[in-house]
Amino acid sequence: MIRIGGGFRCVMRASYLMVSFAGIAGCISHQQPQNGMSDAATPSLGRSPNVVSARIDSAARGTRITVVDLTKEFLVFFDSASKTPLDRDSRWAMWQRLYGFAARPPGPFGDTLARRLFEAAWDRYPAALPRIRQGAEGFGFVPDSVLRQVVTLLGCGGDTHVQLIAFVGGFEANAFAFPGPGGIQTIAIPVEAGDALGALVHELTHAVHHSKGCANITSGYEMSLAELVLSEGLAMRVTERLIPGYPSIHYLAGSQAWLDSSNSRRTAILEGIQQHISESGGATARRFTFGSGATGLGREGYYAGWVVTEALLDGGLSLHDLATTPSPHLPALISRGIAWEERGRSP
Ligand SMILES: [Zn+2]
Repeated sequence: MIRIGGGFRCVMRASYLMVSFAGIAGCISHQQPQNGMSDAATPSLGRSPNVVSARIDSAARGTRITVVDLTKEFLVFFDSASKTPLDRDSRWAMWQRLYGFAARPPGPFGDTLARRLFEAAWDRYPAALPRIRQGAEGFGFVPDSVLRQVVTLLGCGGDTHVQLIAFVGGFEANAFAFPGPGGIQTIAIPVEAGDALGALVHELTHAVHHSKGCANITSGYEMSLAELVLSEGLAMRVTERLIPGYPSIHYLAGSQAWLDSSNSRRTAILEGIQQHISESGGATARRFTFGSGATGLGREGYYAGWVVTEALLDGGLSLHDLATTPSPHLPALISRGIAWEERGRSP
């Protein structure tokens, strides 16, 4: 069964629509003081998110997380596929039949990507089995507490219901978020690789931001470029706020060489974003995430999101302002951020 889920991701931040062959959830698929809090009072998860303090806003107590653990389905596949030698095609067919959950865009490109990830990952799975067997329990955080901190920081989405899928990826550390069945905000976090807490904050920010209580973005993988840029920028800035102390590249999740190149092409990248800011759809999303963008670098949507949100926040807007801007106003908001950036961040 082919499922389409979307993931605008995320940890590897190559996110995107996510398609699962047999997965569980139909799916598609990165400052200022907020809400009266001073910087000093901004909740910080540090590396101990289980310690949730009274800083949680009471408005965030209506949130809910349902955990779906797909690791057991993966183990059924892996144990079956390991019993007897299989050729690659047979093993891939078994993966699709017994498991089939991967972070990938829809369509033939996604099909090719999913198999490539799987083939590259196969020999690495044995060493990761101890972690995989821990499933969602091995994350080491309390998802509900993290969700409440995100809601408190954004000051909206207090009744957000999130479905959290723990899955086994291909060691690409690619978490993602997408609108699930019934409109439930759904996020997927891999267990075998990546910074699960950072990914959780990033993806929960997408879920809360896209919820009815905030911007009510329902476009999934067909989202506009402006939605993509703002969504990723907001998710990275919230992660930076709640898990501070890392260099920029940690939140951007690319390579340092990629970031250095992006910085050297900052003006050209932003001009490219501006030129296409009114576009939407899967082709545009691919171009500015997986694809070569406007300057040939890749992941330019993420870089632009990081730069533009910084300019908007430095210019006096709040995370709450960004999270509650309706979709029709986002192209203008992104354009304003680009203009502020080009003027040295002076509104
Ligand atoms: Zn993201």
